[in-house]
Amino acid sequence: MDDQELGLFQPMITRCLAQEVAPFYQQWEEAGEIPRSLWLALGAAGLLGIDLAEAYGGSEADIAIPQRVLEEMSRQGFGGLASAYNIHANIVMPYVQKLGTPEQKEKWLPRMALGECLGAIAMSEPHAGSDLAAMKTRATRVEDGWLLNGGKLFITNGQVADLVIVCAKTDPSAGAKGVSLFLVETSLPGFSRGKPIKKIGQHASDTAELAFDQLKLPADALLGNEGEGFLYLMQELPRERLGVGAQALGAIEGALALTLEYVTQREAFGQRLADFQNTRFTLAQLKAQLDMARAYFEQCMERYRQGSMSSTEAAILKLQLSELQCHAVDRCLQLFGGYGYTHEYPISRFYLDARVQTIYAGSSEIMKEVIARSLLGKAS
Ligand SMILES: Cc1cc2nc3c(=O)[nH]c(=O)nc-3n(C[C@H](O)[C@H](O)[C@H](O)COP(=O)(O)OP(=O)(O)OC[C@H]3O[C@@H](n4cnc5c(N)ncnc54)[C@H](O)[C@@H]3O)c2cc1C
Repeated sequence: MDDQELGLFQPMITRCLAQEVAPFYQQWEEAGEIPRSLWLALGAAGLLGIDLAEAYGGSEADIAIPQRVLEEMSRQGFGGLASAYNIHANIVMPYVQKLGTPEQKEKWLPRMALGECLGAIAMSEPHAGSDLAAMKTRATRVEDGWLLNGGKLFITNGQVADLVIVCAKTDPSAGAKGVSLFLVETSLPGFSRGKPIKKIGQHASDTAELAFDQLKLPADALLGNEGEGFLYLMQELPRERLGVGAQALGAIEGALALTLEYVTQREAFGQRLADFQNTRFTLAQLKAQLDMARAYFEQCMERYRQGSMSSTEAAILKLQLSELQCHAVDRCLQLFGGYGYTHEYPISRFYLDARVQTIYAGSSEIMKEVIARSLLGKAS
């Protein structure tokens, strides 16, 4: 990353999180929603669409900068916000930038960069999570557009999004080549949202069920080419998984910092927790694992910049970093004893927010399948 570029963005990131997020985050956790005013503030600070084209409201900065935003949010314990940001600014906006027509980009990206329009991406369904090919949502061609029917589950930002990229079957007989992506305005008749889904962590990030009932889409709602939806999803996975990796690195660093502070203050058996060999070895091991993970993350980022990051590398990154995050926050919480199990101590939120990282964006088991396939070929 260009140090000068980071030098420009870092103060904005720090200021924005200190002024616009930290004082209110607990409130948002309780409300189960991030207010629109925060998205507008992130937009005003230039933190949405950072690496996207200036013509559409971006800053054309290095891809590392939005990852840094994710890392900082996670380091400070704003795991839900990081996930919501990852979806809007690190996934949905890049999809529109890469696949959109000039008209689609003009219509959506400047408003998304300002935080006036919030994005979500809807792939998962009740019976199609890991097995996306089993999706039932259907888009049928009609005279002047498309008719969308079906539903999606577990959609981050789903309760508040203005625009949802919906993955739907356009030709159920064509297998992987029968899936397409659509830009769906949530104000259209036929679009509805279920009750917010209650989760064990990441409360500030809303997660919704969406339904599409005879939803009429204009012809220009198609994003990219018909039948190439799966290909696009595969192409964008490395970036999505880099984002999850950045969240993991930030969260591990944040949890480690909280724990270092605690173990140097708390005493048992007449000495600081920090003086027990078990504490020292636990923290030393986590630091070593964190630094190794960061080195792989940086390597992946460089390969992403060069356009050569493979799906196997993305899977290795997602698997290792999300699993390490869960392990690290668990070990850190242990060092807090009973206090770590209470909401009074922020380490408990790090623990709860981490758990989903090995599940969404491709579960650890699916990541292992991807890696195994690169070693052994597809299982029969
Ligand atoms: C908080 C949250 C936010 C989310 N945000 C979004 C979003 O914004 N957009 C979106 O589209 N989706 C989103 N998801 C959905 C998420 O991507 C899916 O939950 C995930 O892909 C797993 O699918 P599933 O829940 O249906 O589990 P299943 O696919 O039913 O898996 C259940 C278990 O079986 C294992 N398994 C499945 N297949 C295999 C296999 N072939 N080999 C070995 N083990 C296997 C899985 O690893 C898992 O352990 C979100 C989920 C959560 C919880």
